[in-house]
Amino acid sequence: MNSNEIEIHKELKKYFGFSQFKGLQEEVIKSILDKKNTFVIMPTGGGKSLCYQLPALIQEGTAIVVSPLIALMKNQVDAIRSLSSENGIAHVLNSSLTKTEIAQVKKDITSGLTKLLYVAPESLTKEEYVQFLQNVTISFVAIDEAHCISEWGHDFRPEYRNLKHIIKQLGDVPIIGLTATATPKVQEDILKNLDMSDANTFKASFNRPNLYYEVRTKTKNIESDIIRFIKQHKGKSGIIYCLSRKKVEAIAEVLQVNGISAVPYHAGLDAKTRAKHQDMFLMEDVDVVVATIAFGMGIDKPDVRFVIHHDIPKSLESYYQETGRAGRDGGEGHCLAYYSYKDVEKLEKFMSGKPVAEQEIGFALLQEVVAYAETSMSRRKFLLHYFGEEFDSETGEGADMDDNVRNPKTKIEAKDQVVK
Ligand code: ADP
Ligand code: MG
Repeated sequence: MNSNEIEIHKELKKYFGFSQFKGLQEEVIKSILDKKNTFVIMPTGGGKSLCYQLPALIQEGTAIVVSPLIALMKNQVDAIRSLSSENGIAHVLNSSLTKTEIAQVKKDITSGLTKLLYVAPESLTKEEYVQFLQNVTISFVAIDEAHCISEWGHDFRPEYRNLKHIIKQLGDVPIIGLTATATPKVQEDILKNLDMSDANTFKASFNRPNLYYEVRTKTKNIESDIIRFIKQHKGKSGIIYCLSRKKVEAIAEVLQVNGISAVPYHAGLDAKTRAKHQDMFLMEDVDVVVATIAFGMGIDKPDVRFVIHHDIPKSLESYYQETGRAGRDGGEGHCLAYYSYKDVEKLEKFMSGKPVAEQEIGFALLQEVVAYAETSMSRRKFLLHYFGEEFDSETGEGADMDDNVRNPKTKIEAKDQVVK
């Protein structure tokens, strides 16, 4: 190790208490400290935050962090503040602040105290803030959840499109883009929109060798099939994703009636009930959460043993994110999806009310899900290929962890077996 490396290891220990970097963190941090545009693609839980937090803490000036969710920003600010004796070390700038609070934020930035300033993309466009930021030292701008820039991402936010224009007004500051969306198309879009084709790019592998992937044809016996599956995994934690709130309620009830401890979770429940059900799951008062995709953001339960998709997801990115909540501790994680072509048609019908451009993207993403469900090749190879990653389905890590590899079969003729 050269002195530079010893130094950043020391800082890692000092601020975060970790003795080692995870994955590509060290390389990413060096690129940022070299003032290079940097692009980071790591799966959820890979440790992306530290990639910009550490260089922000040890450099001169303030790093601006753009993030789409106020709740996540607040969490991060609280976490950073707990590492320091100075509250002003990290701030959030958003529309909910009072005049006095804004004055305090500005004072802390000007005095050099604030190392991390979290902003929502729509706040960053405010003329008043841009003017202020033009006159202070900015170490770099980090754009978290950078896939929000792309219409091909699973969470497109038009405000993200303006970011490059605003950052340019702040002078010649390096940009760090971070995302867990690995499709080549989204990556291209991000680099193009941020005008940083020169960026140092760091991409971690998306392979999750401990996850077992399985697709079953959806028949009218799906409920008893799910009950049997859960009883085979007695006492284990699991999540069941359904497309609609109504289905969530219905399945949760069927499970309860059959002696399985399960609670529903969807955006139609009031905040108190949602929080209660989430806590019950985290505290292991219940085994199973039946949920819409509203459930899971920021949930870090390490021992989720299965994730079942009662209905197919709308993209493989979503599928990867949702199944990724299984087996965080490295132990077994069974990812079971039920598939019928009728569900595909249902999703297509949902989309038909949307603008044409959005529809086309939606259909294209859905076709990839269909291809995944119908494939007879290694599902892991299929998924990783979708993410632009080559996988050797004979020797790769986790190669035998899917139904197609374990029980080679002919293609599912799903169209003949739709639920009536
Ligand atoms: P991401 O944004 O990529 O989904 P996070 O930044 O939220 O991931 O980090 C995920 C978890 O990994 C956090 O609990 C974080 O504390 C932990 N983590 C990050 N870096 C390290 C490290 N070097 N050693 C141990 N744990 C780490
Ligand atoms: Mg993150």
